[in-house]
Amino acid sequence: MAKSAGPRAAAGLSVAGGAPAASAKARAAQAGRIAAIFARFEAASPHPEGELDYINPYTLLVAVTLSAQATDVGVNKATKALFALVDSPQKMLALGEDRLREMIRTIGLYRTKAKHIIEASRQLVERFGGEVPHDRAALETLPGVGRKTANVVMNIAFGAATIAVDTHIFRVSNRIPLAKGKTPLEVELGLERVIPDVYKRHAHHWLILHGRYVCKARRPECWRCLIADLCNFPDKTLLP
Ligand code: SF4
Repeated sequence: MAKSAGPRAAAGLSVAGGAPAASAKARAAQAGRIAAIFARFEAASPHPEGELDYINPYTLLVAVTLSAQATDVGVNKATKALFALVDSPQKMLALGEDRLREMIRTIGLYRTKAKHIIEASRQLVERFGGEVPHDRAALETLPGVGRKTANVVMNIAFGAATIAVDTHIFRVSNRIPLAKGKTPLEVELGLERVIPDVYKRHAHHWLILHGRYVCKARRPECWRCLIADLCNFPDKTLLP
């Protein structure tokens, strides 16, 4: 008796190794792999946190602005004294650009950053009543605040499921791969598509910390990586 083609054929889908069936299977496998990766990150670190010190949304915005092309450790050193004096845009304006520049002079690009922070503080007071807006588009209108900074502030200060793609996330996402892309925005939009909703809130921190401490740029430490069996990077470092 001839074998029935089954419900797939009835639905117009290929049953003889055709592309639609094969790609649906590949997509399901990829989704399962990515869900498993984030389940491991969550099990290892249920409440991941960033490493920048801050007091409130405003000081977080300042710290993230200062962190461009600088290390979190270096930023924290400078902001310790700064945030003891300043925790609002009004106080930053009272401090003034010259004193701010002096207090952050150990951080790269400090002159430009001081200018941006003073101007952003002025706009926060004049346009937003001294509050940091809970809105990515509004944040991006502030001087020195790009999409990455806005995404970090939305995620950490306001609990939004945004993913700020920095150099670590860009590398890790292309390597594993989770979402491939040639620009941070391509990777960000790809990650938003593939990361299950339940993991989106913390995905940013898990991926940054993974890239910073394990999946390092020059020599990823694959021998101690908790997702090594789920990672497809062809050039793994298997021994210390
Ligand atoms: S196995 Fe290696 S390349 Fe893959 S995620 Fe882990 S550290 Fe990175």
